Amino acid sequence: MFDKMFNLFFPSKCPVCEADSDNRATNPICSSCWVQIKKFNGPRCQICGLPVVSEFASLCAACIEERPHFEKIHYYASYTGVIKEAIHLMKFSGIRRLAKPLAKLLGDIQLSVCDVVIPVPLHRTKLIAREFNQTAALAKHISKNTGARLLTSALIKTKLTQPQTSLSGVDRRKNLKKAFAVCEDISGLKILLVDDVITTGATVAECARVLKKAGAAEVHVAALARSLPKH
Ligand SMILES: [Zn+2]
Ligand SMILES: [Zn+2]
Repeated sequence: MFDKMFNLFFPSKCPVCEADSDNRATNPICSSCWVQIKKFNGPRCQICGLPVVSEFASLCAACIEERPHFEKIHYYASYTGVIKEAIHLMKFSGIRRLAKPLAKLLGDIQLSVCDVVIPVPLHRTKLIAREFNQTAALAKHISKNTGARLLTSALIKTKLTQPQTSLSGVDRRKNLKKAFAVCEDISGLKILLVDDVITTGATVAECARVLKKAGAAEVHVAALARSLPKH
């Protein structure tokens, strides 16, 4: 009943299936589309989270060869389908309220217990253009759900970088060089670093490197989704 009234005042169609939006919490995405967001359950590398061939392999070849600066990447789903649509709506169409139901998904996976939650920062110029840091919004909800303290200005972005998606491997690393700085005392802390999407992992790897250098005891990563290779 309430949802019907809500639709009267905020009429909207689900951008995925074009039916009427019927769920306040996930609006404009309808409930039958939202339930299509499925947790990734396959065997994966215990550090970077990429799928591994067998459930008996606990680390992927890349993590064995060069141990990342982060301890583990947690993510809810593969970056495709409805979750991708929802993240795009939150990030580029300004539908900020989606941060809450999206962050709630992470309540379904066992996140590492940490002292503090730190969002991957946006550069000031970008923040002004977008008026909203979706990652900070997610971090706020995760902090509330887990009880870990939120630190929004401990890690800042000091360099305006090119979009990572436009670059390949080596250039991605070069692009991120000297891009982040730590400006609060984080020594000895177990950190949960939050990002919305993990693509290659280069951004969180660089953030983790900088946080460790500043004295963080451990860096765990939580993201809504991760780009996974197609089989
Ligand atoms: Zn729908
Ligand atoms: Zn790995």
